[in-house]
Amino acid sequence: MRKIQMVDLQSQYQKIKNEVDEKVLNVMQSAMFINGPEVQNFQKELEEYLGVKHVIPCANGTDALQIALMALQLEPGDEVITADFTFAATVEVIHLLRLKSVLVDVDYDTFNIDIEKLKAAITPKTKAIIPVHLFGQCANMEAVLEVAKEHNLYVIEDNCQGIGADFTFSDGTVQKSGTMGTIGTTSFFPSKNLGCYGDGGAIFTNDDDLAYKMRGIVNHGMYKRYYHDEVGVNSRLDSVQAAVLRVKLPLLDTYNTARRSAADYYDKAFANHPHILTPKRAENSTHVFHQYTLRILNGKRNELQAFLAEKEIPAMIYYPVALRKQKAYYQESNDADFVNTDKLLDQVISLPMHTELDEEQLKYITDSVLEFMK
Ligand SMILES: *Cc1c(COP(=O)(O)O)cnc(C)c1O
Repeated sequence: MRKIQMVDLQSQYQKIKNEVDEKVLNVMQSAMFINGPEVQNFQKELEEYLGVKHVIPCANGTDALQIALMALQLEPGDEVITADFTFAATVEVIHLLRLKSVLVDVDYDTFNIDIEKLKAAITPKTKAIIPVHLFGQCANMEAVLEVAKEHNLYVIEDNCQGIGADFTFSDGTVQKSGTMGTIGTTSFFPSKNLGCYGDGGAIFTNDDDLAYKMRGIVNHGMYKRYYHDEVGVNSRLDSVQAAVLRVKLPLLDTYNTARRSAADYYDKAFANHPHILTPKRAENSTHVFHQYTLRILNGKRNELQAFLAEKEIPAMIYYPVALRKQKAYYQESNDADFVNTDKLLDQVISLPMHTELDEEQLKYITDSVLEFMK
């Protein structure tokens, strides 16, 4: 049996090696390392895949979030609402820009922002909402967009974990994750569903003015060479990464299907177990399973992780600490408002999830989990 990894990028690379190597060598020979045709072509291909008007490539997913917030020209102290249960980058950039993060609880079953809690958190200072499509499934965007419209708020989708997912609105319209809000962001970190071989990210929008502004912000606020109209940053996707992404983008749907079929295998193995809850699939979103995350109900989550480690099965706790309790973003809060987040911190465990899991590995993983949980 091949060694089980949380993410197996080596095996995935072997299958696309010839094409990737050739494309990367071409970039070397062209010496167009920054911008250049690979980046521009990738941008167009991603716009087409997503059905969005503008893709602005940038250096990573955290920058994408920061640049999105910069483009909205919020004032220090303005409030931005996001989920308490997510990767820290989402709240980090809010603080970096001296905005105020307002953290709310998530839904226990989908791990995504709780709509009632979101509504309750709105104040006259609220300017934006950042729903996170956590673990690969869209937040309830129909509800988020309704709330945003009612209160005149911007919506930035943190789509770092959800690229390729489809959301279906009640009128039957289907849209790709990251293209529904004012702005969407993603990460091409190697382990993400569409990962490059280094850091990378992108911002999406259908708004021409915001797109223009963000294309300037990623490049030192420069719209005409050496004329700086606003304070920007240096955040670029390089040509080598774009070349890799151009090979992988046409495979994204196949990759997501492979993840879903691994998830199906896990679902079946753990169905109806009294102490294991499998991830719930929302009715209005497809799931691209950036993570496959179980909830362990018998209080032995950490013991399970240790047991699996002994069997050389990696499993991760995403995430062990609520953002509101992190030193860097600590805020006074009433734990009674965060019942789901606090339960999840103690219950969640993410199993190996990637595009190269085979049946032998899946059987070994599920047998081992069930052996411990029997
Ligand atoms: C990965 C991730 C980010 C940050 O992306 P980087 O490219 O690592 O900067 C932000 N938000 C979420 C939810 C993520 O999973």
